[in-house]
Amino acid sequence: MKTIAQADFKNRKVLVRCDFNVPFGKAGEITDDTRIKECLPTIRKLLDDGASLILMSHLGRPAGTGYEAAFSLAPVARHIESLLGRKVVFPGDAFEDATVKAAKALQPGEVMLLENLRFIKGETKGDEEFARYLASLGDTYVNDAFGAAHRAHASTAVIAGFFPGNKYFGLLMAHEIENLEKLLHHAEHPFTAVIGGAKVSSKIDVLKNLADKVDNLIIGGGMAYTFVKATGGSIGTSLVEDDKLDTALEILDTFKRKGVRLILPVDTLCADRFDNDAERKTVPTDAIPDGWMGMDIGQETIAAYEAVLKESRSVLWNGPLGVFEMENFSRGTLQIGRCIGDVTARGGYTAVGGGDSVAAVNRLGLTKGISYISTGGGAMLEYLEGKKLPGVEAILN
Ligand code: AMP
Repeated sequence: MKTIAQADFKNRKVLVRCDFNVPFGKAGEITDDTRIKECLPTIRKLLDDGASLILMSHLGRPAGTGYEAAFSLAPVARHIESLLGRKVVFPGDAFEDATVKAAKALQPGEVMLLENLRFIKGETKGDEEFARYLASLGDTYVNDAFGAAHRAHASTAVIAGFFPGNKYFGLLMAHEIENLEKLLHHAEHPFTAVIGGAKVSSKIDVLKNLADKVDNLIIGGGMAYTFVKATGGSIGTSLVEDDKLDTALEILDTFKRKGVRLILPVDTLCADRFDNDAERKTVPTDAIPDGWMGMDIGQETIAAYEAVLKESRSVLWNGPLGVFEMENFSRGTLQIGRCIGDVTARGGYTAVGGGDSVAAVNRLGLTKGISYISTGGGAMLEYLEGKKLPGVEAILN
């Protein structure tokens, strides 16, 4: 894998694709700068080498018809400035003359940030002309935007074609790929996948790809009820995808044929409405009364999952095991998160990512106990599905 760690970038003008798609509060302030901070090792390494940097990113979903103040990267430029302690040139035009001029004038050690790439429709369309324009600004391309690696956009994939011998993975991208490869191809056994979250439909391909890799599959969260209903259980008003009942049966059959132990919840903490203050009771998962919905796994289930996790050397966790956003239904996710942390503490390898999983881990204070937390929601899921990511392939080939 060609990463920036293996080269010296002195006097190079490096285009670095980052993922600065950060959330903003009502007053226009950045409410979580994790994504910016995660790119800093790459930025610092290139600056230490003596390169000049042209950083680029998307932010949100503007219309693609030019500048929109609400989606400007100007606050991000100021924030990077304060984190790096050096000036960040921000031409602020939507890819016109000022950008070209500023890029030309950039000296070694200087940093520039382009405006939101998605102000130009060509970005998401993977337009070659827009990619050529971006490529003309620098002499080297580095991709460090794992969160956007599953998109074949102008700045994430197409642009790499203009730098045949001069394209590299950034340190964050390299870390993500190394960990995902380890998980999918070199995991120590027993290997357990804990898959939760809302919908079976968004996890089908991940489950299929894992069937050949894991020894145990733990299914929890809202998606478990589709499996329970498919096998004849009563699930009350729990979340269900009625058009995926056959798929659920197929998945159960596949895992059985492959000799994977599949563990579904045996008891469930129900509520009489979707509310933290709802009435609660614990019942068998296949006998949820009418008018009640499953919101979290019960204590017996937690114990069963725990027993499997105790024997595991590798764990992949994707998706919360209950409605973790509500305190009264967060216990299953919290306790299983702690068990996964114990696997790490025993010298095992644990990975979390995809969709809402990282939000759950952050909110419940579980980050320290996990070996690898992926920064890419959709990108991580697609990697786990066994798909080739355009942003990764463009550097490799
Ligand atoms: P995903 O993005 O697929 O990982 O789904 C995450 C969402 O699943 C979170 O917002 C959880 O609140 C939700 N979720 C987990 N368990 C349940 C459940 N039993 N009923 C409804 N939603 C759930």
